[in-house]
Amino acid sequence: MIQKAMAALLHELEAWNEAGRVAELWWRDDDATATSPALDTLLDISSEYRIPCNLAVIPVKAEVSLRERLAGSERAWVLLHGYAHVNHAPRGSGEGAWELGLHRPLETVLNDLQHGREILKSMFGERFVPVVVPPWNRIDPSLYQHLPGLGLTGVSAEWTGNMTPEVEGVRIVPAHADLLRWKKKQASFAGTDKVVRSIVDHLRAKRSGKADQGQPTGVLTHHLEMDEAAWEFMNTLAEATTTHGACRWLAAKDIFTQGSIG
Ligand SMILES: [Zn+2]
Repeated sequence: MIQKAMAALLHELEAWNEAGRVAELWWRDDDATATSPALDTLLDISSEYRIPCNLAVIPVKAEVSLRERLAGSERAWVLLHGYAHVNHAPRGSGEGAWELGLHRPLETVLNDLQHGREILKSMFGERFVPVVVPPWNRIDPSLYQHLPGLGLTGVSAEWTGNMTPEVEGVRIVPAHADLLRWKKKQASFAGTDKVVRSIVDHLRAKRSGKADQGQPTGVLTHHLEMDEAAWEFMNTLAEATTTHGACRWLAAKDIFTQGSIG
């Protein structure tokens, strides 16, 4: 079943091949805090297929066990997943959950980001790439202009299908294909057809000049929520793409710049 649905992706990669181009993907995984069997599964796929994995880590919940587990991995990178992954939007307002909105004073939100960045930088050193991955994929765009001053050089949220706004000093690279479907906080595999379609839609938009050319296609997982079908898909995707010459997976450090604040 998966192999058949994967045919649409292989077909698209053939078009890239014929055009003499290489389709670039990147893997973002959210909500890492500690070592776990699910994290082991993720790191196993990363090392078996030599795919960089870019983990959005929640700063105040990050445990020493995560640092120790990642220390032995050549391909794991760490991104800033908000601060405490706490919702500050009023409940029942219909706007969903927000940590990085302006429901609190701007200064408080920026302090959180700065503190979070310091925590991850001191825990993970060079493995930390100063990119904000907002919890629930939501960030108020008016925060962007303040990020370079905090040493934060990128943002990764959800892809809306539009061209990405340009912000001086901030690279914006969304996650285009979420492997999970979310219903009332309960996650399950979104299905091969849907995930493959999301990836192919972005690749096709790029190939036809309708999406930013410099933006790799983001594949999004949440290792703690992945069911068996989602892991099986990730394995198959990894195998299909790493055995194809017109496809390459990027590390966050090669997508985003490192920033100047030490
Ligand atoms: Zn999250």
